[in-house]
Amino acid sequence: MQILSIIIPCYNEEETISPFLAATKEVEKELSNELVFEYLFVNDGSKDATLKILREVAQDFDNVHYLSFSRNFGKEAGLLAGLEHAKGDFITVMDVDLQDPPELLIQMYEKIKGGCDVVGTRRADRSGEPPIRSFFSKLFYKLINKVSDTEMIDGARDFRLMTRQVVDSILELQEVNRFSKGLFSWVGFEVDYISYENRERIAGETSWSFWSLLNYSLEGFINFSEAPLNLSVWAGISSFLMSILGILFVVVRKVTIGGSITGWASTVSIILFIGGIQLLAIGIIGKYIAKIFLETKKRPIYIIKEQNL
Ligand code: UDP
Ligand code: MG
Repeated sequence: MQILSIIIPCYNEEETISPFLAATKEVEKELSNELVFEYLFVNDGSKDATLKILREVAQDFDNVHYLSFSRNFGKEAGLLAGLEHAKGDFITVMDVDLQDPPELLIQMYEKIKGGCDVVGTRRADRSGEPPIRSFFSKLFYKLINKVSDTEMIDGARDFRLMTRQVVDSILELQEVNRFSKGLFSWVGFEVDYISYENRERIAGETSWSFWSLLNYSLEGFINFSEAPLNLSVWAGISSFLMSILGILFVVVRKVTIGGSITGWASTVSIILFIGGIQLLAIGIIGKYIAKIFLETKKRPIYIIKEQNL
């Protein structure tokens, strides 16, 4: 029989692991004459009892496995570790807080059998989310899709079912700065989406603050487009052209009307304006250099302290 691997990154999720397993075990039963399930929890340096609970459930069920990191490396690292260690013919990635409804797996598997390589999920709405967050999310997807060649689908979750071939392709992308939403899309293949109504987390708290999301979206821009660099080039060109006009104006005035020392205020504003643009441009370049710096160090993306595989 073919194996379905479920990868579940966990950070401080002591309350949600048991309900999650209870719900997915139902789906496992329903698919049991077609698929063997393999659960692969990745403990991302949790500070609560997550690891202890994972050890327990791994004893209770012999198809439950876990990897445990030496510290918190972030969800992206957890996903990568899961993908690298999963043995399945089909691989899915799920949040443990049941915001990704496990029962969708049945429909997703049907679509895979129908010939898709990837079945993704997307939220049909953003109910239960602060309006300011929705506003910025929408803005992010609008902008990134304008400036990046890699399409990113608004509302698409990380929850997706993939064939072994797709996962192997994703694993070939060995970059350190991992922005999964982009990487998943970059590899291509035939992708289909299932929409569902947004669900709230069953217990515990989201580990994403507004600022961490804002920073995460910056990652998306830096990793998947050169638009910020182009922006600074254009800002540079336009301020250069404006200064030429300014010089012409000053010279013509000097020749025709004669000199004057008025205008210091405008001079100061122009200096501030140009200085600001220069700092912005240097900052943007710095961002890219920092990324290159990290890539060239070739540090491991995660460190496993304990595992039962
Ligand atoms: N997560 C993780 N490492 C982190 C942060 C989150 O492995 O540093 C996991 C978390 O346990 C959950 C999933 O990533 O299974 C999604 O996190 P969360 O529910 O906090 O994000 P949200 O659903 O609010 O976007
Ligand atoms: Mg969540």
